[in-house]
Amino acid sequence: MLVNVVAIIGPPAVGKTTLAMQIGQLPGTWVFRLREHVAQNSLAATVTNAERLGWIDDITVITSVRGYLENLIREGDIHTLLLDNFPGRGTQVGLCLSVLRQLAPDCIVRAIELVADPDVLRRRAASRRVCHHCERDPLCDPRLPAMASALDPGHCARCEHLLHIRRGDTAWAQTVVATGLYSSRF
Ligand SMILES: [Zn+2]
Repeated sequence: MLVNVVAIIGPPAVGKTTLAMQIGQLPGTWVFRLREHVAQNSLAATVTNAERLGWIDDITVITSVRGYLENLIREGDIHTLLLDNFPGRGTQVGLCLSVLRQLAPDCIVRAIELVADPDVLRRRAASRRVCHHCERDPLCDPRLPAMASALDPGHCARCEHLLHIRRGDTAWAQTVVATGLYSSRF
């Protein structure tokens, strides 16, 4: 029975996904990432307008969250659900709570906000990498942190393909290199 719902929120590169992936390995624990449960055609629709890049409409959000929770509750043995970087907006908080009230009225909902020094965030954003081969994202924008090979840090430890900077981190990487933060702190 679902008894704990923990929203993990915070700025980019603070470590939300890394934390969720580690806690998510515990028995009876699942991790929800909105992007992974939005139908590909809905996700593709978000890029038709540059101003709405990555923006997922509320109907799609509530449909995705409800479908996911119904499946989780059917499983029966899941007691803790981690929400990785969700809810992302005020309206999503309301939608999420209304679905939980209907489907799991007894569960306790908490939020954990991760924080870090802005310099740390910039350095992490500049240095983290993703693997397009291991994470086949429908918009070619993989998000999960990839492990670098010990022998060749530019390549994925799992599949040996070339690792890339996350799409949204490109500007951070340029800033960090330009200001010398990268070279002076690593
Ligand atoms: Zn890989």
